Amino acid sequence: MSTDSSGTHDDRQEASDDESAVAIARRQLLRAAKHLDIDSSVIERLKHPKKVQEVTVPVEQDDGTVEVYTGYRAQHDSVRGPYKGGLRFQPEVTRDECVALAMWMTWKCAVMDLPFGGAKGGIAVDPKALSDEERERLSRRFTEEIRHVIGPTRDIPAPDMGTDPQTMAWIMDAYSMQEGETIPGVVTGKPPVIGGSKGREGAPGRSVAIVTREVLDYYDRDLTETTVAIQGYGSVGANAARLLDDWGATIVSVSDVSGAIYDPDGLDPRSIPSHDEEPEAVARHEVPETLSNRELLALDVDVLIPAAVGNVLTDETAPEVQADIVVEGANGPTTTAAAEVFRERSIPVVPDILANAGGVTVSYFEWLQDINRRYWSLQRVNDELESEMLDAWNDVCAEFENHDVTWRDATYIVALSRVADAHDARGLWP
Ligand code: NAD
Repeated sequence: MSTDSSGTHDDRQEASDDESAVAIARRQLLRAAKHLDIDSSVIERLKHPKKVQEVTVPVEQDDGTVEVYTGYRAQHDSVRGPYKGGLRFQPEVTRDECVALAMWMTWKCAVMDLPFGGAKGGIAVDPKALSDEERERLSRRFTEEIRHVIGPTRDIPAPDMGTDPQTMAWIMDAYSMQEGETIPGVVTGKPPVIGGSKGREGAPGRSVAIVTREVLDYYDRDLTETTVAIQGYGSVGANAARLLDDWGATIVSVSDVSGAIYDPDGLDPRSIPSHDEEPEAVARHEVPETLSNRELLALDVDVLIPAAVGNVLTDETAPEVQADIVVEGANGPTTTAAAEVFRERSIPVVPDILANAGGVTVSYFEWLQDINRRYWSLQRVNDELESEMLDAWNDVCAEFENHDVTWRDATYIVALSRVADAHDARGLWP
């Protein structure tokens, strides 16, 4: 197994200083920039968002009172095409978090070579505390407040935490009503009946499975002799588990928020309900052994896939990891300090912006289908996703070998060089 040699002691020191999302995103940008010859003014611009829209969203509640919420849409960079990224309805949503996540979307779209830039947005609200009618009014009013900055050629939102295909349907309807024509391409992740793509829901898990298969092949490991532990059994975790199982891997452990189950002989992922099918049902499944989520992370397996939430692999848990390879299914599961631990221990970590990029890639397919008013079969979606993932994987492999860096740095090098080259070609206006 080749080792990663970039990074210094200073990185480790710096890593423990500021783990805010924006600080991590900027540090990663500077790390990748070190390997490339990029005009410093371009790097300076990329450290900041192009625009952040902050809006006040008044919503009439079912009891007749009016609640006032704050919403954001952060747009990071659009040099390669319209902004693209999710919308979160979550109490913790902040301006800074949206900015950092928008930066990640710029790199994710660029590494996949999609003609999009990065954006993220959301409303600081607990969607579970709202009725369906209140959520609908909230979604429609938010759409009106950000209508002038979104659109199929400007900025295309998608579902994220606390939002779903129904939210996207309300946004698409509100936008279309105000524009006077049906415009399905303004959002992706819609229900298929109004222009959503087949295969969108399973796409992030599918890309995680494809990348896991490819990284095993890179290290001459046989997928059919591979054991896998997956934290989180939602859209990403369950879809990845089922595909890897179909392809011959042995899924020995999966978990949800209430705990993990373990069978060294292998679980049957199709008999375990995903979060969508039956929330928090994993730990109730009949198995030889149950574990905590922390014990799952420390299992002696070939591949560990954190696919639940961010920041689970830290300077405390990373030293306990016994897996040979980590593939990031969740967004941001590895802190900067943990990434340094893995680098020192020569444990390859395939980063989120590559591994779970199937979601935004099929969103791109959805946008193409909407613009062309011509819809694809599930087979075509899956075939095209496979081909896009292999192209991106091969581009990242080339940089991994060229620069002798971590997989994360190689992925950022691919993404940043594409964005920087586009800035270079377009120049600075005026
Ligand atoms: P989900 O809500 O469908 O499932 C999340 C799963 O994680 C559930 O099984 C839940 O019980 C479990 N979980 C929650 N908190 C946990 C904790 N603290 N410890 C262990 N398990 C916990 O979510 P999802 O759509 O599968 O997303 C999972 C991750 O993947 C998130 O980081 C998300 O941002 C990222 N992601 C999702 C998509 C997508 O389109 N669904 C795309 C790219 C990235």
